[in-house]
Amino acid sequence: ALEPLEVPNRLLLGPGPSNAHPTVLKAMSTRPLGHLDPAFLTMMDEIQSLLRYVWQTENPHTIAVSGTGTAAMEATLANSVEPGDVVLIGVAGYFGNRLVDMAGRYGADVRTITKPWGQVFNLEEISTAVATHKPAILALVHAETSTGARQPLEGVGELCRQHGTLLLVDTVTSLGGVPIFLDEWGVDLSYSCSQKGLGCSPGASPFTMSPRAMEKLQKRQSKVANWYLDMTLLGKYWGSDAFGERGYRTYHHTAPINLYYGLREALRLVAEEGLANCWQRHQKNVEYLWQGLEDIGLKMHVEKEYRLPTLTTVCIPEGVNGKSIARQLLLEHNIEIGGGLGELAGKVWRVGLMGFNSRPESVDKLIAALGTMISNN
Ligand code: PLP
Repeated sequence: ALEPLEVPNRLLLGPGPSNAHPTVLKAMSTRPLGHLDPAFLTMMDEIQSLLRYVWQTENPHTIAVSGTGTAAMEATLANSVEPGDVVLIGVAGYFGNRLVDMAGRYGADVRTITKPWGQVFNLEEISTAVATHKPAILALVHAETSTGARQPLEGVGELCRQHGTLLLVDTVTSLGGVPIFLDEWGVDLSYSCSQKGLGCSPGASPFTMSPRAMEKLQKRQSKVANWYLDMTLLGKYWGSDAFGERGYRTYHHTAPINLYYGLREALRLVAEEGLANCWQRHQKNVEYLWQGLEDIGLKMHVEKEYRLPTLTTVCIPEGVNGKSIARQLLLEHNIEIGGGLGELAGKVWRVGLMGFNSRPESVDKLIAALGTMISNN
């Protein structure tokens, strides 16, 4: 007979998931309620207002999608792209490419601007591309997890408005760990995940749309080509004013109740710490990480100014077997780091310092183990 499940106690310093905070784990092990229980609906309202806080937005329709970040990404495109729409996508890594593939499946006329992996677009490049393509939607990845680069967004929303373009931004690896000012930046659509900067388990993914994006959805001629993620249906379960009578809640799907408990607790922890403090903690600890990596002779892939506080790509030195070091870290030291994706496969390690894991102790453990291995290599 099988023994009850035993899970190794790893320190998750890869691209996500990060380790959940103990109180998040406790919340997730609480008894489930029915998905229309008033106590559960109240908790959903709390999730909505906490998500508005961490994203710095007033968007009424700010919810969590039942599914991982990719489901929320799908929701964002499904509810904004109409067949034939020109969608301009900034591609400088793996997740930009995923947006290209996905937008095409919803019938978008996809155009791209590209940059080498690890670099970011400047405002002038974006401005020229928007003026040339006049897209219905411009999609950018704020935190490109495959490269560790942070795409600056100041001024982008303003130029999108000049062309009647909606701005869609992937904040999967930035929410909770990197400063985001969704409304100030004029972002119309965004999605994220629960398992990185927020420090919950994967499966309940933040989604938000501005009144401008909502207007496009309400005026569209064709039905949203995805029943599960259609916000005009889902909005009625979340009680969003724009999609029915205020407070009216109806069955749409059976929510993953315990994940939502976890998300609510993870968001509560961010609010308790204070969002600005949480961002500062991520920045401070990542700088400590960069110093530690440099001290053992390693170099970072991205220019300092554009490095993410949540995810660092570290160049694998010549003659070092990156895969075997990562495997040894996992199996002998219980520390997970990630390998490179796509173009950067075999060239970099990806080290995440996200949510609860963004602490000096995480850095100390990694540097001690990695330092010994590199010097023995
Ligand atoms: N977008 C970015 C930038 C990501 O890093 C990820 C996952 O790592 C996703 C989208 C997809 O999220 P998920 O793996 O939770 O489906």
